[in-house]
Amino acid sequence: MKTRKIPLRTCVACGKEADKREFVRIVRTPDGEVAVDPTGKANGRGANVCPTTACFEQAVKRKRFAAALRVNLREEDVERLRREFERAASK
Ligand SMILES: [Zn+2]
Repeated sequence: MKTRKIPLRTCVACGKEADKREFVRIVRTPDGEVAVDPTGKANGRGANVCPTTACFEQAVKRKRFAAALRVNLREEDVERLRREFERAASK
């Protein structure tokens, strides 16, 4: 019997490793928009973060999303992401 390896993801803020279901995925869509990906399946470069405000804010402060997604996040992008994140994290 083969054991299937569960691919681990890493939180961009605190570095915790866990199954991808434990994280909220932020994705850069092919047209350059940055959004929360509630399905975890959207196309594009993704960054994972724990569903906690602490990790989200730390990732913003340390520009981890910008680095992981290779985008420049404007203040209004951060505001929108924060709202989407809070909705996704409070499930
Ligand atoms: Zn974290």
